[in-house]
Amino acid sequence: MEPFDLAVVGGGAAGFMTAITAAENGVKRIIILEGTSKLMEKVRISGGGRCNVTNATWIPNELIENYPRGGIQLLESFNRFAAGDVYDWFEKKGLKLKIEEDLRVFPVSNSSSDVIDCLRKSALSKNVEILTKFFVKEITKTPDNIFNIFSLKKAKVTSKNIILSTGGNPSGYKLAQNLGHTIVKPVPSLFTFSTKEPNLDECSGVSIRGIDIEINLNNKNFQNRGDLLITHWGFSGPAVLKLSSIAARELYSQKYKFDLIIKWSSLSYEELKEKINYLRLNKGKVNLINSRPVPLLTKRLWIFLLKKIGIDKEKKWADLLADEREKMINTLMRDKYIISGNNKS
Ligand SMILES: Cc1cc2nc3c(=O)[nH]c(=O)nc-3n(C[C@H](O)[C@H](O)[C@H](O)COP(=O)(O)OP(=O)(O)OC[C@H]3O[C@@H](n4cnc5c(N)ncnc54)[C@H](O)[C@@H]3O)c2cc1C
Repeated sequence: MEPFDLAVVGGGAAGFMTAITAAENGVKRIIILEGTSKLMEKVRISGGGRCNVTNATWIPNELIENYPRGGIQLLESFNRFAAGDVYDWFEKKGLKLKIEEDLRVFPVSNSSSDVIDCLRKSALSKNVEILTKFFVKEITKTPDNIFNIFSLKKAKVTSKNIILSTGGNPSGYKLAQNLGHTIVKPVPSLFTFSTKEPNLDECSGVSIRGIDIEINLNNKNFQNRGDLLITHWGFSGPAVLKLSSIAARELYSQKYKFDLIIKWSSLSYEELKEKINYLRLNKGKVNLINSRPVPLLTKRLWIFLLKKIGIDKEKKWADLLADEREKMINTLMRDKYIISGNNKS
């Protein structure tokens, strides 16, 4: 049998999109090799079974702002095929889409099966062959540059070109490596931070807007500003998720053991000192618990911070000692937490 012009390894969303695009661009004989008996299984469960097809942020420069790392690298791809092109692509193929309030794009039917059907029918209409239960175990290359593709059961398919679209399956990395490619080890990203900080769980559920957080590792400084959520295991929320992505490789190299700095206040040392002095002079008879130098902090969080610093929450502002004032300012400016692990969000 004549070799195929293109063999696509992996029958997921990427494999189908690749095969259809190749066919639409003149590649003649194409085959998709899928290891399991089912096609696009991940699409089926995506978006809670509704499949969030794209995001209606049409301008690539705006879209990349949602990618903590790699935005610039993605810009080239998005400039060639932007979110609007994805929208048009599916609609032209008969899949009706809708834009939700938060700009997510779903099929009108709210069913991921319709996305699967659209991709499968588009591939078949372009005469793409599909072979399931063909888990690619080994790929070799003949002297005349033809690929021999072997399944687990030793069946063989030959092709002039190959595209690996095996998703997160480790077999794809191994196949690429055996063909001479260098693999950069992928590491987790977008996770939350665990800490054993005493009493922090008393603040579980507290959320604070627009907080600066910082990590210093391997002589590198990573910072982010965003909303912070305290959970029963540590810290979460957009600020943490984005920082986990920005510092993903360094955090992995440290086995997720590092110090997290939280800046509860963006005021300078002098400004905070002035605020605390104001409270001492004007609210001297008020208990610390009842008046906060940083209004952004919730009462629960303020009580926790006072406990962490070691100051009695019932103390009056007028009775605050100089070293206590100093500790309070330092904590509000740069509060340190020992992070002991990561948690998938
Ligand atoms: C719960 C959940 C919800 C999600 N929601 C959304 C969403 O709403 N919108 C969105 O855009 N994304 C969503 N995603 C992400 C999205 O599903 C994936 O990014 C996408 O499906 C990846 O497609 P892929 O083709 O790269 O990989 P996969 O879907 O993993 O496909 C790879 C295919 O290759 C096959 N394969 C692997 N190794 C071999 C081999 N050696 N030989 C032959 N076949 C092989 C696998 O069996 C698989 O079928 C979600 C993911 C999850 C888990």
